[in-house]
Amino acid sequence: MQGEKYLFVVSGPSGTGKDTIVARLLADHPEIQHTISATTRAPREGEQDGVNYYFVSKEDFERKLQNDEIVEHTCYCGNYYGTLRSEIERHMREKTPVILVIEVEGAGNIKRLYPGATTVFVLPPDIQELERRLRARGTEDEATIQKRLTRAQTEIANAIHYDEHLVNVEVGPCAESLYTIIQYHIQYGRE
Ligand code: 5GP
Repeated sequence: MQGEKYLFVVSGPSGTGKDTIVARLLADHPEIQHTISATTRAPREGEQDGVNYYFVSKEDFERKLQNDEIVEHTCYCGNYYGTLRSEIERHMREKTPVILVIEVEGAGNIKRLYPGATTVFVLPPDIQELERRLRARGTEDEATIQKRLTRAQTEIANAIHYDEHLVNVEVGPCAESLYTIIQYHIQYGRE
């Protein structure tokens, strides 16, 4: 499809700081947009419907799947997450850079559907730091933290399949490196 090079997929293990990096990038470069996914997970404190996610029931999610409104989806730690077609194809048509922050399975599916997209994996400095960040966030119970840490190992092993890699030591420089990657692919990616 036309405009695939405007599509950027960012993944990284839970707690790696990818959402913070993307938030900084969007604040510094308002011409870049991000997609809002649908999820059946409950909102965390401070999260808003239509801002962080579209928080939907399992029935609503399944209906959207049937209606082909969701281009890729996954079940992550017991909840559905999915990218809405409407959220990405408009940006590709309009040629505005758009970022999806999704896990590795979804990233692979997006790359198969839109081969011109760029996938970026954000790594933590090391696994101990990842665990520290995940705990410091204080938003998950112990069982969920353990599930997310186990999944992190598999995700890091998959990082090799990504086009680009970043190590999140500090938010500001990491966000700027992501910006450089975006500029590069828009400038030199195939139309
Ligand atoms: P969280 O519960 O921490 O917000 O998200 C859990 C994981 O699901 C994160 O790795 C996040 O990037 C991923 N995720 C969020 N939205 C989507 C989506 O639409 N599709 C897929 N495949 N993963 C998603």
